[in-house]
Amino acid sequence: MRIAVLASGSSGNAIAVSSGGTSLLVDAGLSRRRTSEALATSGIDAGTLAGILVTHEHSDHVSGLGPVARHFELPIYTTAGTHAAVDGRAGRCPERVVVEPGNEFEIGDLAISPFAVSHDCAEPVGFSVTDGTTRVAIATDLGVVGKSVRRHIAMADCVVLEFNHDEQMLIDGTYPWPLKRRIMSNVGHLSNGTAAQELERLADGPMSVLILAHLSKENNTPGLAMESARGVLDTVGRADVEIYLAPQHDCLGTVEI
Ligand SMILES: [Zn+2]
Ligand SMILES: [Zn+2]
Repeated sequence: MRIAVLASGSSGNAIAVSSGGTSLLVDAGLSRRRTSEALATSGIDAGTLAGILVTHEHSDHVSGLGPVARHFELPIYTTAGTHAAVDGRAGRCPERVVVEPGNEFEIGDLAISPFAVSHDCAEPVGFSVTDGTTRVAIATDLGVVGKSVRRHIAMADCVVLEFNHDEQMLIDGTYPWPLKRRIMSNVGHLSNGTAAQELERLADGPMSVLILAHLSKENNTPGLAMESARGVLDTVGRADVEIYLAPQHDCLGTVEI
């Protein structure tokens, strides 16, 4: 399996997951042009794209949804709540498919399990994707790591996990207090500390690749996020896990799992 983070963070999110002859986009927060360019840079053949999985309706995840879906003629897969919340903003789309947390479905060579996450929007989900051999789980935009998130990331060979902010930087930073409170709440975003703590539980699992994602530009640094993740994994004897950091604006490049 291959994964390419095309962009990650508050100015746009899109991830491509590929295996065999099937590729999927997870979120479409980049323009059609930037999506095409990032796919080309990552070596993902746009002709293999078979659908767009949407996690939730925040604009950093759906701002390119309509144009990207129309251009590549892709069906959109998301929960009923997210379809309803996006409705109108995406315009005419080739096909809308409703998916439910806990119900696995297939697209081409890939099987997808959506799982519920805690975030301040209609019906947000993360996605676990497998080709039958390898599994990737994507969990960004969540205030806490709930049971279903924990179960899905524990099964994954590649975990894409939100390392949004350093708590002290957020508290000391310039954001207005209501926004700080929202980010730190159960329906906000994961801090480096909370995400890193979660890694301890993954120590005995199959995870061989970890991608730190959705970093805040204002309230985090790549160094701090990396230090928190590396520190925990080294402590629990998992120095072997490869850690990548998803940049805000550039593609990470393709990671083979
Ligand atoms: Zn987001
Ligand atoms: Zn969000």
